[in-house]
Amino acid sequence: MFNLFSGIIQAMYYYIKTYGCQANKAESERQAGYFEQLGLRPTDDWRQANKIFINTCSVRKAADDRALSLLDQMQAYFHDRPRAHWPEVILSGCMNRYRDRLQKRFPILTHIQGVGETNFAYPAKRQDKTQAFIQISYGCNSFCTYCVVPYARGREHSREFDDIMREVTQAVSDGYHEITLLGQNVNSWGLEDVTIGQRKLDFQADHLPSNRSGYRPYTGLPPFVELLRAISSLPEVTKIRFLTSNPWDFYPELIEEVGHNRKIDRYLHLPVQSGSDTVLRRMNRGYTAANYLKLLEQLRALDPDLQIGTDIIVGFAGETEQEFQATVDLVKKAQFVVAFVAMYSVRPGTVAAKIYPDSVPYQVKKQRFEILDQMINKDQLSIRPKIV
Ligand code: SF4
Repeated sequence: MFNLFSGIIQAMYYYIKTYGCQANKAESERQAGYFEQLGLRPTDDWRQANKIFINTCSVRKAADDRALSLLDQMQAYFHDRPRAHWPEVILSGCMNRYRDRLQKRFPILTHIQGVGETNFAYPAKRQDKTQAFIQISYGCNSFCTYCVVPYARGREHSREFDDIMREVTQAVSDGYHEITLLGQNVNSWGLEDVTIGQRKLDFQADHLPSNRSGYRPYTGLPPFVELLRAISSLPEVTKIRFLTSNPWDFYPELIEEVGHNRKIDRYLHLPVQSGSDTVLRRMNRGYTAANYLKLLEQLRALDPDLQIGTDIIVGFAGETEQEFQATVDLVKKAQFVVAFVAMYSVRPGTVAAKIYPDSVPYQVKKQRFEILDQMINKDQLSIRPKIV
C-alpha cells in the first residue's frame, strides 16, 4: 500500500484461521492463493492483518466455541479503533448459517461467504508439500440426522470434470505426484441428480421395498470411477486418495476400481458411525451393520492388505448398552486400523436435535469412547497408517 505522506510502499497482510475438516483447509488454501494474487503477504498475527479469513466448522460445539472466542477477541480489539483502520474480515465455513446473528454480534465482520464461494480463478497456495488437496464437491444431500453439514454447507454440488482435471494437471505441473480428492460424500461425485434415497436403497438391495417409483434409478459407470480413471491415467500421478466416502455410494465398479487400481492408496476411510442397526436407523445412515461388513468383505476379497479406518459416534440419541455392544461386535469383525471416535453432541437445527433426546450421560459416553479408542487406536498403534 502506498502511503501518501511518507511515500513508502507499506506491505499489506492477510491472516487465515481454519477450523475443522480437510475441505476447509483446501478452501483456505484457495483463499490464500487469491490474497497472494492481490499482492498480500501472510501473517500469523491477526492484529497486523489487512484482510482476515476465518473458515469455521460446526460439526462439534467446541469448534463453534473456538471461532466465537476468536471473533470476540477481534471485536474487543478493534472496537476502540477508528473504523477506517478495521481490517476486512471474511467468515466462511459451516457457521455461515448463523449469518444474521453473527453480523449483529460482530460488527467487525465485513462479509459472510457461503461454502464453495471462494474464488476458483486463482491457484491454491498449497500448504502440504506432498499431497495436493482438491475439492471435487461441496455440501451434502444425505441428511444423517445428527449432522449439520447439509444445513451449514448446503445441498450437494459437484465441480465440473474439466475444472477438476485442470486443477489436477496444474498440481502435477507444480510437482505434485499425490492427489487427494475431497468432498463431504466424495464417492457420490456427479450423482446429485440421483436421489440419495435411491442410492441408499441400491446399497441395501436385499431389503428393497416394492414401491420404488419415486426414485430415479442410476445406471452406467459411476462418475467417480471415471474421474479416478482419468486422474490415474496421468503418468506423473503415483497416488490418489479420497475422503470422505460413504458406504451407500460404494458401487460394485468402485469396489473393483479400489481393488485393482494400485494408484489408489491402500488406506480407505469409510465411516460406519455405529454397529447397531437401530442406531443406524435413527441416524438415517441407510445401511445395516451387515451391509457395511459385506462391503468390507468385498473390498478385502480383492485386496486383503487394504487398511480400513472409520468414524464412530458413541452415545447417540439414547444409545443403549446393548446398542453400544453391537458397535463393539462390529469393531471386532471389521479390523479397523484407526477410528475417529466422537461423543455425540447435539447440533441445533438437525433432525436429531428435534426428535431424539440426548439422554446418554456424559460419563457413559466417555466410558464408551475409551473402550473403542482403546480397542481400535491404542492396541494397534504399530500398524496405524499416516492419516491425512
Ligand atoms: S454423509 Fe451424513 S455425516 Fe456425512 S456430511 Fe453428509 S449428512 Fe453429514
